[in-house]
Amino acid sequence: MTARILVVEDIPANVKLLEARLMAEYFEVLTAADGMTALAICDQTPVDLILLDIMMPGIDGFEVCERLKHNPRTAHIPVVMVTALDQPADRVRGLKAGADDFLTKPVNDLQLMARVKSLVRFKALSDELRLRAETSHSSGLETLLAPHQGQLEEPGLVLLVESRANTQDRLTRALNGIAEVTAIGDPQAALFEAADKPYELVIVSSSLKDYDPLRLCSQLRSLERTRFIPMLVVAEPGEESVVNRALELGVNDYLVRPLDPNELVARSVTQIRRKRYADRLRASLSQSVEFAVTDALTGLNNRRFLDTHLATLVDRSKRRDRPLSVLITDIDFFKAINDSHGHEGGDDVLREFARRIRGAVRGADLACRYGGEEFVVVMPDTTADIAAQVAERLRDAVAGTPFNISATGFAASVTTSVGIATLKSGDEGADSLMRRADGALYEAKNNGRNQVVGQAA
Ligand code: GH3
Ligand code: MG
Ligand code: MG
Repeated sequence: MTARILVVEDIPANVKLLEARLMAEYFEVLTAADGMTALAICDQTPVDLILLDIMMPGIDGFEVCERLKHNPRTAHIPVVMVTALDQPADRVRGLKAGADDFLTKPVNDLQLMARVKSLVRFKALSDELRLRAETSHSSGLETLLAPHQGQLEEPGLVLLVESRANTQDRLTRALNGIAEVTAIGDPQAALFEAADKPYELVIVSSSLKDYDPLRLCSQLRSLERTRFIPMLVVAEPGEESVVNRALELGVNDYLVRPLDPNELVARSVTQIRRKRYADRLRASLSQSVEFAVTDALTGLNNRRFLDTHLATLVDRSKRRDRPLSVLITDIDFFKAINDSHGHEGGDDVLREFARRIRGAVRGADLACRYGGEEFVVVMPDTTADIAAQVAERLRDAVAGTPFNISATGFAASVTTSVGIATLKSGDEGADSLMRRADGALYEAKNNGRNQVVGQAA
């Protein structure tokens, strides 16, 4: 996967080194020698990842990170801070500034590539989700999509897979402040446990008793229930090949013993935050899919949904040789309702009208708001006679009881006209069926409204 990486670093020799390593992996590399230049580049060009030095002339790395994370246009770009090994406090400050990950100087090749690839993969996924969510124009999406900053606002749920009791204790204690940890020694039991509870991170020890830790990682990645849980592997020194294979299997990050408790906490927080962000994106995406097929005012399906499904329903009826009817109903003199009760009052009537439609039709029927004050009900397995009864029931449910208008406190008398058409045998399609129902509705309006007209087949 290719990506554009911005290296922000004031020492030219360090820049050259990082640039060469990244370019060897076919990443596109941009460079900036100070913070202001970095911010200007991010403002003008799409960047997929930033490697950010801390000590620089002018504004330092913390401030650059803070500014990036506060700007909605750049907040989603992952930032990896490059810190000095002897400055553990920098990591805490970096986290507070919103950094997504850390690397210590001198930068180790394996670590560099692990962090970069994992973040680039995450960025590509979230870009895709954001794009799909944005194109659906749902409101409030911007705030929903803003990545969270700083520490976890709620403790994480962590599963630790480690066979040695004393190590279990030590890691659990280290994570005490940020997570609720469940420690399990048996990898098979751990797999079931991971599928059972909404874990936000699984930490896998590379030295499990009589078990290949990579097997567990690969099972976690392939199981439907656990595939999105981040995994962090704790490796022994010298286990580069294990780490490499783990990363290929989709493990998100790793640590090498002896563990620095601060680093364990920082990496765990990063993974949990990232999971929560991806979960929110996924949720907003399914919500936006929902918005795309439902009418916001009435909660009924919208016209777009009808347009994509009517043809399928018509085909299915023909194949099974079953009847199918549609009704189109349009509220009478709705303009007058708007005129006397205001647009809000009109909306109240539309909502109540939709409720009465739902009450008059079966669950298997497809009820849609077709536009303004016009509604369509598609009724599979329904003959013309039955459709006429349904339509009459609906007409009566509307005309029989006045509509309460909460906007003004008044009750309004409302009537509606209904046109019905039943699918003809032969090769009639959805369009022709809808046209005939529309013709019937036109007739009902012309004949004086508040009535049902069935278009003879
Ligand atoms: P007819 O009996 O011939 O159907 O008369 P009508 O007044 O109902 O028909 P017309 O189509 O002329 O007017 C429909 C009105 O519905 C016009 C439009 O402003 C209003 N309308 C459309 N969508 C909405 C909406 O979402 N909310 C409200 N309050 N009014 C709407
Ligand atoms: Mg009308
Ligand atoms: Mg109309």
